[in-house]
Amino acid sequence: MISEKCYELGSRSSIIREIFSYGLKRKAEAGADKVYDFSLGNPSIPAPESVKKAILELMEQPPEEVHAYSPAPGDARVRGVIAESLNRRFEEDFTAENIFMTCGAAASLNICIKALGNPGDVFITFAPFFPEYRCWVEGIGAKLEVIPPHLPDFQIDLEALEKAVTPKTKGVIINSPNNPSGVVYTEEVLKGLTGILKKKSEAYGAPIYLITDEPYREIVYGNVTVPYLTKYYDNTLVCYSYSKSLSLPGERIGYIVIPGRLTEYKKISPAIAGAARVLGFVCAPVLFQQVAARCVEDTGDIEAYRGNRDLLLDGLTRLGYSCVPPQGAFYLFVKALEEDANAFCERAKKYDLLLVPSDDFGCPGYVRIAYCVAEKTIVNAMPAFEKLMEEYR
Ligand code: PLP
Repeated sequence: MISEKCYELGSRSSIIREIFSYGLKRKAEAGADKVYDFSLGNPSIPAPESVKKAILELMEQPPEEVHAYSPAPGDARVRGVIAESLNRRFEEDFTAENIFMTCGAAASLNICIKALGNPGDVFITFAPFFPEYRCWVEGIGAKLEVIPPHLPDFQIDLEALEKAVTPKTKGVIINSPNNPSGVVYTEEVLKGLTGILKKKSEAYGAPIYLITDEPYREIVYGNVTVPYLTKYYDNTLVCYSYSKSLSLPGERIGYIVIPGRLTEYKKISPAIAGAARVLGFVCAPVLFQQVAARCVEDTGDIEAYRGNRDLLLDGLTRLGYSCVPPQGAFYLFVKALEEDANAFCERAKKYDLLLVPSDDFGCPGYVRIAYCVAEKTIVNAMPAFEKLMEEYR
């Protein structure tokens, strides 16, 4: 008997991937410029020039520095450079010991959940949420509890959180800037959240961990700031990735911050290494550990995403769509024009508009539009959005 759980996960591909595959088929039939594919969160801007320069320079280094295994937590010098950068930007006091290099945010989260959780534990998250959380939490025999969003701002519903936390709560997972809503949680809300976690941890005599999923930290628009959670709550683990900031999703590189102030730091630090070992990560890609150190504070051209956001938000609002105002990431969360977002997305396909229904994000009735696309895709898609709207008038 094989694992039914793995069979189920592997045979039911994600809705996002299904729509993307459908898009490839439609592009072959109708022509790439006739299909408006807003399904995938693949960065559309190129990696900054510094990445190319770093790779070329690294190719001249001895092979053992770029192709060999590194220690499991990563190259000590790379980890030191990242710690210094975080200290500079967020007034922290991390050292290399507090940084564990990973294969991107997916690995960071999976490792943290496995390191902290036991079967029967509960992890809480907030809708709309990244669907893979369910897979990682259930993968260790724990339960994912989802709290609906505070409306209409899509911030965290603190009252609901207060009621949901119990002695079984091992951790709370947040993602800001958020995929799929584009919302950035405010400092006030985050203070409320960490206040509740402090109070409950004390009442239960056991720490409740905050896992913060931050691949979009740098992708924010205007004067929006993304508070650094270790400053607000000692029992925070930060899961970071260069997939979006450096446009390197295929290279699989990120890290976990394991602050020394964690109540159980002495056990959690080895548990993180143990979880990475069980999951078979061995070490993060060494060439890209070195690239990350050389490009530690660089990003691609975030302004290009801002341009796309404005174009899409203005265009859809003018047509009468109701959109959650996005302050970051590269997604627009839009109210479907009928209750069933799946039916709405099916209808959108008639106009070769490929949108993702929100059910798997735990927040039915919406669609996610990934605007990490060429600007002309947004411009050319507007008549299709207009025809779709007319169907519902
Ligand atoms: N968390 C969120 C919210 C994401 O949107 C993604 C990817 O899209 C990930 C985690 C996984 O990121 P990575 O490619 O770094 O594993």
